[in-house]
Amino acid sequence: MKAALVSDVHSNLEALLAVEKSFGDLGVEKVCFVGDAVGYGPDPDACTEWIRQNAGMSVMGNHDFSAAGLADVGSFNPNARAAILWTMRHMKEVSVEYLRALPMRQIQDGMTLVHANPMDPGGWNYIFSLWDAEMNFPFFEGPFCFVGHSHQPAAVGMDPKGAVSVQPLTTFPIQEGFRYLVNVGSVGQPRDGNPASCFGFLDTDRGQFSFIRLPYDYRKTQKKMEEAGLPRPLIERLAEGR
Ligand code: ZN
Repeated sequence: MKAALVSDVHSNLEALLAVEKSFGDLGVEKVCFVGDAVGYGPDPDACTEWIRQNAGMSVMGNHDFSAAGLADVGSFNPNARAAILWTMRHMKEVSVEYLRALPMRQIQDGMTLVHANPMDPGGWNYIFSLWDAEMNFPFFEGPFCFVGHSHQPAAVGMDPKGAVSVQPLTTFPIQEGFRYLVNVGSVGQPRDGNPASCFGFLDTDRGQFSFIRLPYDYRKTQKKMEEAGLPRPLIERLAEGR
């Protein structure tokens, strides 16, 4: 199986289409969406529709949850909140209905998807440290759990004896008997200092996982955001990947 793990698209259509362009060469057979289709960016309907059409597995993100009217937006910072309120005013009902029906967790083909963490997907707590990651291993079954949420790619492996180790942010081999908890990074708003889109690529045929970075035309996204009147710091951060 060759699966693309796509997370935190955040209404950034240019980034999503750049990522999609690479799928043919990679031989992607299955697209897995790890949450946050909307929020921050200017194209909530187009991104939601793309996910609806292309994702074989998909889960709810915290921005999807709020934009679909399932939670109060009070827990977000002012810029994120402004973008969610903008999204709620502009998104079509068909998109809202799709987001509202997303599950918090999905399990298929040895892969568990959750947006924030497998221990408590709806609590939206971040996995930032190796300790956070280790605590979450008992809360998924099978070899792989994929998360998003922090917009920072990271991978932790657990050997058959239960020892955890950080994996490289490039390509690493899937080892026999190991389990992996991977943050696949963000397609539409990377925050690790690199403005290029990030997604995960699991190739069980070759026995490896890769983080893939693809530059995209963020200036086009920025221009649309300006026209939409979205908050300036959200526009500027796309150029810096922070
Ligand atoms: Zn996000």
